[in-house]
Amino acid sequence: MPIPEQFIDELVARSDIAEVVGEYVHLTPKGANLWGLCPFHTEKTPSFSVSRDKQIYKCFGCGKGGGAINFVMEMEHLSYPDAIRHLAKRAGMEVPETAGNEEGRKKYHRALEANKAAARFYHEYMRSSQGEKVREYIAQRRISPKFATRFGLGAAPDEWDMLTKELTAKGFSKMELIDAGLAVAGKNGGVYDKFRSRLMLPVIDIRGDVVGFTSRLLPGLEGAKYLNSPDTVCFKKGQLIYALNFAKATKRPNLILVEGNIDVITLHQAGFDNVVATMGTALTADHARILSRYTKELVLCYDNDAAGKKSTERVLGILKNADLSVRVLQLPNAYDAEGNPLKQDPDDFVKKFGPEAFEKCLNGSAGQNDYRIDTLLQGADLSTDEGRMEFLRSAVETVGTLQSPIERELYGNKAAQAAGISGASFAQEVARWRKRQTWQAKKKEQRQNLTPTMTHQPKSRELRYENVRSGLAEEGVLRLILLDPTLLDKANVSPEQFSSPTLGKAFRLLKDRHERGSSVQLPALAGEFTPDEMSFLVETLSKPETASRADEALTDYIKVIRTEAGLRQAPKSGDALLELRQRQREKAMEDGQ
Ligand SMILES: [Zn+2]
Repeated sequence: MPIPEQFIDELVARSDIAEVVGEYVHLTPKGANLWGLCPFHTEKTPSFSVSRDKQIYKCFGCGKGGGAINFVMEMEHLSYPDAIRHLAKRAGMEVPETAGNEEGRKKYHRALEANKAAARFYHEYMRSSQGEKVREYIAQRRISPKFATRFGLGAAPDEWDMLTKELTAKGFSKMELIDAGLAVAGKNGGVYDKFRSRLMLPVIDIRGDVVGFTSRLLPGLEGAKYLNSPDTVCFKKGQLIYALNFAKATKRPNLILVEGNIDVITLHQAGFDNVVATMGTALTADHARILSRYTKELVLCYDNDAAGKKSTERVLGILKNADLSVRVLQLPNAYDAEGNPLKQDPDDFVKKFGPEAFEKCLNGSAGQNDYRIDTLLQGADLSTDEGRMEFLRSAVETVGTLQSPIERELYGNKAAQAAGISGASFAQEVARWRKRQTWQAKKKEQRQNLTPTMTHQPKSRELRYENVRSGLAEEGVLRLILLDPTLLDKANVSPEQFSSPTLGKAFRLLKDRHERGSSVQLPALAGEFTPDEMSFLVETLSKPETASRADEALTDYIKVIRTEAGLRQAPKSGDALLELRQRQREKAMEDGQ
């Protein structure tokens, strides 16, 4: 049984879109709407708008749109029922629970409980006599018992199914353990522990729940060195940031992102309680958005080898437009006795040189532009003309992408000086490069405008109209009835005559609501459409339409829909001729009126 419509309507009415969005996005009034930086894509100028009248949001950059429920679904990565629950809690309302939701919620809670019980088991096991090897490894990494406990470290036994036995004895079913990512089903029907002979690091989300594990194989054993929980109902690798549960409370002005999870612990122990890491995966735009909710400045501190530098470059690319300022902490080069460069990670560095030295590097960490130009310089051969030209070409591009003219001058001069040319001629090159970029962007836009049928199509490929003429008229009908629901009484067209399944469905749902006496509005339909469909409906809704002469407009739109529907039903012989005749007949009727 779905959540009752009345409840959803009241929830939507009590969750003002501007307030819901305002908890995440700083909004400023401009014209009829409120504007802010889009939380779903990275941007520096606001293209995200919120309409209090229509109770919808819409981003002109990435195209996302919807009502309060959709917003919470996207923002908090929640399912529809969970978003309802989230908003209900906020509005002080109690959700009438239904069987389907209850089941999903129970599964989630059981997965959390199982992971918590597993973390307890691993921790106890580590402290027992059998956990000696793991304790030795922890000591070798110079993690104090206090911090081992603080981070909940544990040991996975060198046995096939010790955890599985332990937790099934506590009342968890084998299926629940598999769902929680703690056990795996073997080929012959048996169920085994997922983690064996490993140092276990519980992953705790920002609410303080153990959602899964990352782990390290003990030295000298064969197998994958690092192993994470698989993605489960509560463990989503691409959205988790290790130690953010601690780091979010830091008094330091920034967060430091390192590569290794164990490095995070040793750095916290050294007094850097602002250090976090991803779950051994590359940083994603999702991660960047989550981080930007907790800090204004992110310091990247990757290993100082070639791989670390490559990762830094890539991450800078992802963070280019993030709502975060980024600095790069480069560890100084170290050499062995024979003078060969040594790979150095922040863990090694702090142990060798102490927290003060790390603090110094942190304070001296370069802004990302300095870092970029330094990297270009390091890779350039400035002793030959070709080398200098190559450096200048890349430097012009790097500087050209900077949005602030002051930054362009500052870093332009720096690059020019390094290559031994005048700042003025470098600036000229940059200006030329930027002009070319603008021109190319304009050309691209013009090309798109030359294909009008494409510009009238919804962005998402799955939603494209098979019949553009009818599709546009269907959009018009929806816009009009949302402006004035009483028009539904005059809308002499059936949803089946709509050519676009999504628009037809929206029409049917709104018509049903009107007939039942419910409010005719889009935000309450969040549960009926996918996020893409909802964004598309919002896009449709926000095209201009006036309520004046609405009756006439409605009649015209409906005429088009019915004609095109009639053509689709007509036999497929001599299509073109038939179509022409039918359109002429329509035209004659219009003229005759
Ligand atoms: Zn956007």
